[in-house]
Amino acid sequence: EVRVRFAPSPTGFLHLGGLRTALYNYLFAKQRRGTFILRIEDTDRDRLVPGAADAIEDMLEWAGIPPDESSRRGGNYGPYVQSERLHLYSQAASSLLHTGHAYYCFCTNQRLELLKREAQRSGHAPRYDNRCRHLGQEQVQQKLASGVPPVVRFRLASGADPLQDLVFGWTRHEVASVEGDPVILKADGFPTYHLASVVDDHHMRISHVLRGSEWLISSAKHLQLFRALAWSPPAYAHLPLMLNPDGSKLSKRNGHTLIQSLREKGVLPESLLDLVTHAGSGFSSNRIGRRLDELILEFNISKITTHSALLDLDKLNEFNRVHLQRRIEDQHVCVELQDELRQRLLHTHGSDISDHTVLEPQYIHRVLQLRKGHICSLRELLDQSYSYLWIRPRVSSQRLKDESAEAADIAAAVIQLVGAGGLFSSTERLNRELKLMASRLNTKYSSVMRVLRLALSAQQKGPSVAEMMLSLGEQEVCVRLQKALE
Ligand code: GLU
Repeated sequence: EVRVRFAPSPTGFLHLGGLRTALYNYLFAKQRRGTFILRIEDTDRDRLVPGAADAIEDMLEWAGIPPDESSRRGGNYGPYVQSERLHLYSQAASSLLHTGHAYYCFCTNQRLELLKREAQRSGHAPRYDNRCRHLGQEQVQQKLASGVPPVVRFRLASGADPLQDLVFGWTRHEVASVEGDPVILKADGFPTYHLASVVDDHHMRISHVLRGSEWLISSAKHLQLFRALAWSPPAYAHLPLMLNPDGSKLSKRNGHTLIQSLREKGVLPESLLDLVTHAGSGFSSNRIGRRLDELILEFNISKITTHSALLDLDKLNEFNRVHLQRRIEDQHVCVELQDELRQRLLHTHGSDISDHTVLEPQYIHRVLQLRKGHICSLRELLDQSYSYLWIRPRVSSQRLKDESAEAADIAAAVIQLVGAGGLFSSTERLNRELKLMASRLNTKYSSVMRVLRLALSAQQKGPSVAEMMLSLGEQEVCVRLQKALE
């Protein structure tokens, strides 16, 4: 049975890097009828951000990749928050102490500081010198009895367990030759990441660990912990780094990559999923416009390469344009979009919308069908340049006459032309008929265009007159021309 987990620390909000990890886990699980678990790793008490855990799950739900098991959803392997599982970590630590794979360490912070400073002075990476490994039984008892709060350290074995990573292939890391023995249980009874991760992966029956390649070296430690606890480890797949196109690190701090803020900007969830998978590898094709069900079908873990995934945020508009078009073309989803647009319109232009025919489903539907493929977000339709669609212009007949002496004739002729039907079948047809009409009236085509633009939008600039007329539709065009004649 495939069981995978996304295990964020609630030290911040979900960003594109986290979304990528969650998504690959989700795809892997769904493809194999497995289970996708959300586990909150909140053992670093000093860095907790209030509300982050909830917000992360909210964002997964919004993105359409909700966990099957989590503290919100429940499941048989809970609790799904590490701070509620402390007894399991202390149990594991006791068993490691018992078998001699772990030991109490009483070194003071001052001593550790000193070690650090000495290392710095000699230009080495700081590392614990494993002093307490060598304490005798009696010394340990004495110190424990004297009430010095100890930490528990894991005794790293020398040598390296080869690890067969599903992405990086065979790797070996001789951790003991570069690091001191790691703390696994802190003095306050909280575990560190390594112990908690291994204990939970075991008890939650995790079959595959898919996580960022920054954890590859930790996996060597985790394998040792699994062996010491006599548990069998999961399979590992480390996902390549995700970088900006220029090779720089994605910054979490400036907010550009935070899912919440991208959502607020009007980015669609499927655009984000498409963007992060498009940047990375692991799929049988790389076309733009894939939705979740297609990603599940096309995902192939053996196609993930070790090359960094280059994420080009400047392409987001393009992704969003394609996905918005797909949504508009999907009848069922389009109804939701119409509602959303109506809400937004009432919110932004509410008091200016004097005639509510522009809020009717057919009207909004036509606008969406005509603008799809051109707009990157629904919000664009609220911009100034589209306000003519929603707000009837107030243009006096005098103003129109100032534009052209024949304004009234032009307006009347267009109303008649529209009434005859067929005019709106295409932009070409519309332009052709208007040209013919201009010569019938013996007036310049450009004056016809100016009069129409003014009567329909009260503007002198904007989209082409044909686009405006098609978007407004026959009925609204006639109403506006009629009004301009009054
Ligand atoms: N809590 C770790 C993180 O924040 C999880 C790493 C892992 O998946 O094991 O990324």
